[in-house]
Amino acid sequence: MGTETIAPVPVTVAYGDGIGPEIMEATLRIITEGGAELDVETIRIGERVYALGNTAGIGPEAWESLRRTKVFLKAPITTPQGGGFKSLNVTIRKAFGLFANVRPSPSYSPFIATKHPNMDVVIIRENEEDLYGGIEHRQTEDVVQCLKLISRPGTERVVRYAFEYARRYGRSKVTCFTKDNIMKMTDGLFHQVFDEVASEYPDLQSEHWIVDIGAAKLADTPEAFDVIVLPNLYGDILSDVAAQIAGSVGLAGSANIGNDVAMFEAIHGSAPRRAGQDKANPSGLLLGAVQMLVHIGQGEVAERVHNAWLRTIEDGIHTYDVYDAAVSKATVGTAGFADAVIARLGEMPKTLKAASYRSSQERIAVAVSERPRARKELVGVDVFLDSRQPVETLAKALEDNAGPLELVMITNRGQKVYPGGMSETFCVDHWRCRFQGRRPEHSLPYEEVTALLGRLIGAGLPFIKIEGLFTFDGQAGFSLGQGQ
Ligand code: NAD
Repeated sequence: MGTETIAPVPVTVAYGDGIGPEIMEATLRIITEGGAELDVETIRIGERVYALGNTAGIGPEAWESLRRTKVFLKAPITTPQGGGFKSLNVTIRKAFGLFANVRPSPSYSPFIATKHPNMDVVIIRENEEDLYGGIEHRQTEDVVQCLKLISRPGTERVVRYAFEYARRYGRSKVTCFTKDNIMKMTDGLFHQVFDEVASEYPDLQSEHWIVDIGAAKLADTPEAFDVIVLPNLYGDILSDVAAQIAGSVGLAGSANIGNDVAMFEAIHGSAPRRAGQDKANPSGLLLGAVQMLVHIGQGEVAERVHNAWLRTIEDGIHTYDVYDAAVSKATVGTAGFADAVIARLGEMPKTLKAASYRSSQERIAVAVSERPRARKELVGVDVFLDSRQPVETLAKALEDNAGPLELVMITNRGQKVYPGGMSETFCVDHWRCRFQGRRPEHSLPYEEVTALLGRLIGAGLPFIKIEGLFTFDGQAGFSLGQGQ
């Protein structure tokens, strides 16, 4: 045991579904033997709560416990198939503002087979925004939409977290992936905020990649990256890719960090087909628990547990999922693996880089900068319409009812089809019709927009939705149509 005096820290624990209870039991046994001082509150969430008709899979007592302890160690949950059930993970992340999802993916070569023996990537995924708002609508017979929301404060705090994380853990570079060549405003904002924050960290290298070629490079040459920060969807996909090419998704742990509450878990799911067989690998959850121990100020315990785990992997004591006859010495089950780690507490890895958390007791805190608010003015409106008319007929009806406003363009799925469209463009029943004042630099009274909508409804052209066109300190806050 080390020299720390540790007061028990209240922690909420959920044993989860499928393989969850086995890997949680193994994890708690290892960290307790390692010296963790925890005051565990167990909550029931997931399958059995869903089965009681609770569509969120979590009840009031569980929320209450999480609010009290603010630290959550969670085994995987089975999300019921079919509509009506909400993903528990997404609900918890959003309810507590867990904005950063931290997923380290180092290789453990030569002890775990990988094509990338030198990779050591940490993916920091924005965890609340982007396409994960679940704001989806069916708008016409043909078309459904999902709203992609990126906010400046939401981006700033995850990007700052990534730079602070890099500094804390002695990393040298932070890379951002976006698709801002296409999504110039949403991904463009993410990239812009990344550049702004990067300029405050001159001691760290920073770079930006377009996500498609960045993903290809990550899959091919992951050792070229260090810390990667990226919007929610790209992060969701690429953190699994990174974990898998490092060796196995079964080895990766993850921390979901908020300003107040944090949740720690494995990145894999509940693997129901392996449940109850004492086969599952507890490593992902254990490494999530190691991140938790660092978070609650028990860095010395985290280090002891992590190093014993590394030594176990080096000694070739492997669960079936990472067993490789060339390097493994024994296949063990979940409980046997936990015994092997416990037997090595106090030992260090011989070849793999040892974990070191003693100097990282302070939590990483990020604050969002205050900015003066821009002057916002309405300069036009995009009216979305459901119509099967040919574009010329539609345009004529819109021109006839434009009143003092000007019909600037019509697009179909973003492609400009009026004025001057091409007959080859394939169109569906979903039109975005842009109206602006005749002097577009002047702000528009809202009444002109409501009057326009009234005329359009009267002409048999009711809107699906409208989107205000605003300028911010004179800068357009809307994209042009493709081909405009
Ligand atoms: P999964 O990760 O549960 O399992 C995929 C396969 O990976 C398994 O069949 C198994 O062969 C292997 N595997 C995963 N974890 C392992 C481990 N610890 N040890 C050994 N092998 C392991 O993915 P899935 O089958 O797509 O999802 C199953 C359920 O888990 C679904 O209900 C899904 O919604 C849920 N899920 C939950 C979480 C979470 O709670 N964080 C995350 C992902 C999926």
